[in-house]
Amino acid sequence: RPVGFPAMAKRRIGVMGGTFDPVHNGHLVAASEVQVRFELDEVIFVPTGNPWQKCHSAVSPAEDRYLMTVVATASNPRFSVSRVDIDRTGTTYTIDTLGDLRTQYPDDELFFITGADALEQILSWHRADELFRLAHFIGVTRPGYRLVDDHLPPGAVSLVEVPAMAISSTNCRDRVRDGLPVWYLVPDGVVQYISKRELYTAPERA
Ligand code: ATP
Ligand code: MG
Repeated sequence: RPVGFPAMAKRRIGVMGGTFDPVHNGHLVAASEVQVRFELDEVIFVPTGNPWQKCHSAVSPAEDRYLMTVVATASNPRFSVSRVDIDRTGTTYTIDTLGDLRTQYPDDELFFITGADALEQILSWHRADELFRLAHFIGVTRPGYRLVDDHLPPGAVSLVEVPAMAISSTNCRDRVRDGLPVWYLVPDGVVQYISKRELYTAPERA
């Protein structure tokens, strides 16, 4: 190999951030669709850290959310899970997630995948242009939300239609709490993990 040539071509890496409380088939379908359409080498799921301000956190322990995400993605050779957000203390901000992954993958291309609802929140950030320097943004359709790039710099975000899965983690938690099944909404291993750890059944939980 001639001097100065990189050992490997730039890899295309998708980043799917989320609370994943629990991870569900809507997340997996979105990530899979974007992986294929954008020819990504890998999609890294990044569970958020625990909100540290709250002593009665409304969110399940980071370790449970991390393990459910590992269980859900283990069978897909293109999927992996990163601990960057759960190992960093404090509230998770996308700018930190992308900064850490950029450090970890200095030569690769990052594609941040986000649903229509989350896209609006992330890009309303007053320094959104810094985010665009770290990654390409891919907004995916989500039932019940409008996917728009009205007030975004032209070409900054790719909008992608993914198979419509009207599933949310909130609804999965409510169903478990109400004694309803979540089979086929989340992967089988996640159903079993939820029941083994008795997640979402505590009466005081919001
Ligand atoms: P919660 O109800 O707790 O907010 P959620 O279902 O929205 O959970 P998150 O972990 O908040 O899941 O979402 C992580 C990412 O996945 C976000 O970018 C979100 O927009 C996207 N996403 C979640 N559910 C879907 C879905 N059914 N279809 C497409 N994208 C989704
Ligand atoms: Mg959400």
